Amino acid sequence: MKRWRRNVSVMIRRSLLLALLLVTALTACASGPRLRRVRIVHTNDLHGHVERAAAVAAVAAAEREKDPNLLFLDAGDCISGTPLSTIYKGRPIFEIMSTMGYDAVAVGNHEYDHGWQLIEEFREIARFPLLCANARSPTGALLGDAPSRVFEVAGVRVGVLGLITEQVPRLTVTSASAGCTFEDPIEAARRLVPELRKRSDVVVLLTHLGVEADAALAGAVPGIDLIVGGHSHTELRQALEVGSTRIVQAKCYGERVGIVDLVWDADEGRITQFDARLVTIDPETMPSAARVRELVAAWESKVDDQVATVIGRAARRLDKKRLRRAIEHIYKELLGTDLGFQNTGGIRATIEPGDIRIRDVWTVLPFDNTLVRVTLKGSQLSDYARRQIGARFDPEASYTIATNSYVSDQQKTYFRVTDAPVEDTGLLMRDEVVAWVREHGGFTPGGGAAPEKGAVKPAVKNSGSETDGRDADDADDAEDTPRKR
Ligand SMILES: [Zn+2]
Repeated sequence: MKRWRRNVSVMIRRSLLLALLLVTALTACASGPRLRRVRIVHTNDLHGHVERAAAVAAVAAAEREKDPNLLFLDAGDCISGTPLSTIYKGRPIFEIMSTMGYDAVAVGNHEYDHGWQLIEEFREIARFPLLCANARSPTGALLGDAPSRVFEVAGVRVGVLGLITEQVPRLTVTSASAGCTFEDPIEAARRLVPELRKRSDVVVLLTHLGVEADAALAGAVPGIDLIVGGHSHTELRQALEVGSTRIVQAKCYGERVGIVDLVWDADEGRITQFDARLVTIDPETMPSAARVRELVAAWESKVDDQVATVIGRAARRLDKKRLRRAIEHIYKELLGTDLGFQNTGGIRATIEPGDIRIRDVWTVLPFDNTLVRVTLKGSQLSDYARRQIGARFDPEASYTIATNSYVSDQQKTYFRVTDAPVEDTGLLMRDEVVAWVREHGGFTPGGGAAPEKGAVKPAVKNSGSETDGRDADDADDAEDTPRKR
C-alpha cells in the first residue's frame, strides 16, 4: 500500500513536471499568437524620381500605423534619372530615402554610375543597411553594408539577402566598376540561403536582377520564400510563383508601391497565407509625408535655379522613338559625322507638348556621358545605319558616327565590334543637347514635330531615309527588357 502510494506520488510529480515542461516549451516557442502577420512594403528603381517620394513614404507610414509589424524595402537603382540625382551624384536620394523610413535597400547597377567609390559614400549617408552579397571592390571588400540582415517582425525572424546583377560592367561605363568583381547571383544564393535559412523563419531575397533572372533564381535555389525584385521595371500586379517562391516587383520611379501580406504559422513553422498587391502613386491626390516633402522641396530649390529655364518648345509629344531620331540628328550635326547613334536605353523620359526646360532634357538624358566619334567600316554598320546612308552606302568605305561614350564603351553590344577607333570629345553630351535645343528653339528647329525627312538640315548630306518603326532591328533594342541601362 505504502509502496503503491509512493509510486502514485512519483507518477503525479512526474506528470506535473512534464506538464510544467510542456507549458514552458510552448511559451518559449510561441511568445505571441500562433498566426503572425508580416507586412512588406516595397519599391524598386526609383531612379532619383523624388517627386513621388513623400507620397510613397506616406503609404508606408499609413500601413505601419495600421500594423507596426512591417518591413519597408527597396530593390535598388535608387539614383540616376533626374537632375537632382545627377547634379549631386546621387547623394540627396539616399538622404531622402533615409527620411522615407526604409529598413533595407539593395544595391542596383546604377548605384555604380558615378564610380563604385560613391557606394561607400551612399553607405555613410543612408540610415538603412545597403544589402549586397555578391559584389566586391577592387580590394575585395564587400560593396554594401552586409550580405544580409535578419529583422524580427511580429516575433518572426525575417532574413533579407541582397543580390545584384553580375552584368554591372556591361551596364555602366567601364571605369565605374573597374576592378570590381561580381559573383553569379545564383551561385551566391546557393552559398548563402541555407545559412540564412538557419537564422530565419522567413527568407526574402532583395534582388536587382530583373524578373526573368529572379524566376531562374527561384527555380535553381530552394528555401527562398519571397523575392522582392527590381531592374526590369516590371509591373507585377500579382506575385509570380515559381515552386514555393513568390516574386514581386513594383514597376519603377515610385509610380507603384508593392504591399505583401503574409501569415506565418508559429506552430507549423511556415507561411500559410500570402497576398501581394500594387498601389498606384499619385502625388497630386494622395497624402504626403511632411518631412519627406520638405526635404525634397529644399533639394529641388537648389536645383531649380540651374534647370528651370525654358529653352524651347515642343509642338507635339516626343516619345522615345522620336527623341532618339532627334538626338541622333543633333549628335550628327554637332560633330559633323556621317551618322548619329543614340541607344534607346539611354533615353529615360518623353517630352510633353509645350515649353521645354533644361530640367526636361536632364530627365531625358540623365547620364553623364560625353560625345564621341566612332569610325566603322560600311560592312560593320547595322541595317538601321545603312538605311540612313541610303543609296550612297558602300561596304568598303569608312563612316563616322557621333554617339555617346556609353555606346562606344559598349561597342560590342551596339556595333558588334571591339576595336573601332573612338575619339572622345570630352564634351558632356547632355550639355551639348541643351545648347542645341536652346539655339534651335526645340529638338527640331522651332520646336516642330520630331524630325521627319529633311526637317533638320544634316551637316553631312545623306538621303535622310529615317522612317517610322523601322529601327527595331538595331542592336540596342534588345536591352530594354530585361536589361536596363
Ligand atoms: Zn537596374
